Amino acid sequence: MQTTDTPAARDIVIVGGGPSGMAAALEAVRGGARPVVIERLDRVGGLARTIDHGGCRFDIGPHRFFTLNDEIRKLFVEVCGADLLNVPRLTRIFYKRKYFNYPLTPLNALFGMGVLTSFKILMSYMAARLRRLVSQPELRSFEDWVIDRFGRRLYETFFKTYTEKVWGIPCTRIGADWAGQRIKGLSLIAAVVNAVFHSKKKTIKTLVDEFYYPRLGAGQLYEKMEQLVVTGGGAVRKNSEVLRIKHDGFRATAVEYRDVQGATNSIGGDFFLSSAPLTELLTQLDPPPPAAVLEAARSLRYRNHVGVNLIIKGASPFPDNWIYVHSPDVRMARISDYLNFSKEMSNAPDIHALTVEYFCFEGDDIWGSSDQELVKRAVAELAIMGIAHGEVIDGFAVRSEKAYPVIEIGYEAKIEVIKSFLDRFENLLPIGRSGMFKYNNQDHAMATGLLAARTALGKGRFDPWLVNIDGVYHEGSAATA
Ligand SMILES: Cc1cc2nc3c(=O)[nH]c(=O)nc-3n(C[C@H](O)[C@H](O)[C@H](O)COP(=O)(O)OP(=O)(O)OC[C@H]3O[C@@H](n4cnc5c(N)ncnc54)[C@H](O)[C@@H]3O)c2cc1C
Repeated sequence: MQTTDTPAARDIVIVGGGPSGMAAALEAVRGGARPVVIERLDRVGGLARTIDHGGCRFDIGPHRFFTLNDEIRKLFVEVCGADLLNVPRLTRIFYKRKYFNYPLTPLNALFGMGVLTSFKILMSYMAARLRRLVSQPELRSFEDWVIDRFGRRLYETFFKTYTEKVWGIPCTRIGADWAGQRIKGLSLIAAVVNAVFHSKKKTIKTLVDEFYYPRLGAGQLYEKMEQLVVTGGGAVRKNSEVLRIKHDGFRATAVEYRDVQGATNSIGGDFFLSSAPLTELLTQLDPPPPAAVLEAARSLRYRNHVGVNLIIKGASPFPDNWIYVHSPDVRMARISDYLNFSKEMSNAPDIHALTVEYFCFEGDDIWGSSDQELVKRAVAELAIMGIAHGEVIDGFAVRSEKAYPVIEIGYEAKIEVIKSFLDRFENLLPIGRSGMFKYNNQDHAMATGLLAARTALGKGRFDPWLVNIDGVYHEGSAATA
């Protein structure tokens, strides 16, 4: 990455007003620069935005905030201010009409699965431990990784169907590093020890039992950042879509974007950050990158997300923040009730704001369904699952393209091709989740934005690729692994 000797940039152009773009813009104004954020949608927050509809507020699927990066935690607390809530976490797994605690608790698992299945799970776990002791198996896929940690039985019972629902490809094609990132440090023993002793040492992210949440939804944080950016002298242009990034081979010079009126505009700058999907950044470059780079980009895939939002009148259908739906007989993967995050997510205590989540590729039946069909499907699936709920008084869908980078085996080599091409640019950095093709959380996205802004401000050479998945910067290490 060529970020050496970068003079302090005054004019920083940021593509996308999601967590990475807004954190970068805030850091830029605080460093004395004039950032301009160009955002395609009508509001900031990206995948972490909050939408208001019919007196209710909906995130794009449930968004808890937790981080191991203290700087990002302090930023979250500072910007949220009095709007910060500390929410107790209750999440369960729904499988074959039964609820299982998440994280696992031994008695609940025993009663839910029955003594015989629990015994078989334990035996298969012991077999996996033994195999590791004698042969140190190579862990290439998600399946290899989970079987190694939990045993085949638990993998087949709990992990396989859910994971394939989310990713749409067999677990044997999903890279082991995805499991390593998301359920890192967790073994069956850790889960059971946590369940029995309720460990206060909350460093295994998957087991954390409290999280931060802004009282008006995840997106409130980014709306507050927007106010700080604008009052600090920056600009946020919404309903504006970046079409092209002009460059001279080594420096980006300007972006062309379609503004809110539909007119094409151009804006120059000293430094450019992009949180648009990495594959799109490459096609926006003018002149275009070499064919091999475009080919690498074309072979990377993203998964789309569809949130079916329901407004329900009556008692809460469940006490959980969200429920992972592992049952193979329905297509939904998760359901949440935002009133279990914050009572202010609805303007009446008996009106509930629910999101039923589906994952799909473009061209799948779910992606092509109308709002009406999706609402009908979601309600029918709740009936199949036996989840009682009140009267559905309204429903609509929110479709997010390229929401999940697919961590398919072999994707790293393609990212390397793209990275080494982008390294030639002195003043252009990709940031964030889709922007860096990282399956990350808000903390990671914000950390990449902060570091990229510091590089632009001439404060040093910070490489966003070295932020690990916990949002922590590891200079000089292979932190992307
Ligand atoms: C269903 C779901 C649940 C999640 N749950 C959690 C959770 O519990 N906790 C957590 O911390 N994280 C969670 N995340 C992850 C979190 O949403 C992301 O890490 C975060 O939003 C990434 O921020 P970003 O800025 O990198 O990208 P994004 O949020 O994707 O923002 C990118 C922005 O760029 C804009 N953009 C793209 N292309 C262009 C263009 N050409 N011109 C102009 N604008 C453009 C987009 O409209 C978007 O606003 C979840 C994500 C999803 C999808």
